[in-house]
Amino acid sequence: MAQGPPPSGISERRWTLITTLLHPRTAEFWLYYAPKNGAGPQQLRVCDRSGYDFARLTWQSCAECHRGHVMKIRVTDEWQRQGYGTLMMARAMRGCETYTWTTTPQFEDGRQFFPALGEGLGTGFPADKSCEHNAVRGGGYAEPRLEGRPRPATAGGPA
Ligand SMILES: [Zn+2]
Repeated sequence: MAQGPPPSGISERRWTLITTLLHPRTAEFWLYYAPKNGAGPQQLRVCDRSGYDFARLTWQSCAECHRGHVMKIRVTDEWQRQGYGTLMMARAMRGCETYTWTTTPQFEDGRQFFPALGEGLGTGFPADKSCEHNAVRGGGYAEPRLEGRPRPATAGGPA
């Protein structure tokens, strides 16, 4: 596997440390990018050892409006149909399960993805815009945080 650049926000030195000393046998790395200023887009990236993110989810959530909004979801072909989309959504919805979740419909991946995902998670993903709170206060991502692989959502039966 060719070594690419480290994931965004992580220095080469830190990535080498993570993949060799800290997690020498880990095949995939879950990185969470919080919104830098507390609001705006947040992101989850699943990277292989080379640093390539083969799955990525971008979303927003708003505690004031009790709304979550999926902006973009992508899983690279070879990694599709292995549950990464559902796992990423389970992570994004953690603590926000009672929110009203919407999505932007104009993404190729998302269009195929969301009807199936809605069924799996027991929630619908109607197309809508995000609330204005996130638009006003958004401003990039904070330094990424390494997380464990999320557990599948339990609401609505087997995920
Ligand atoms: Zn809001």
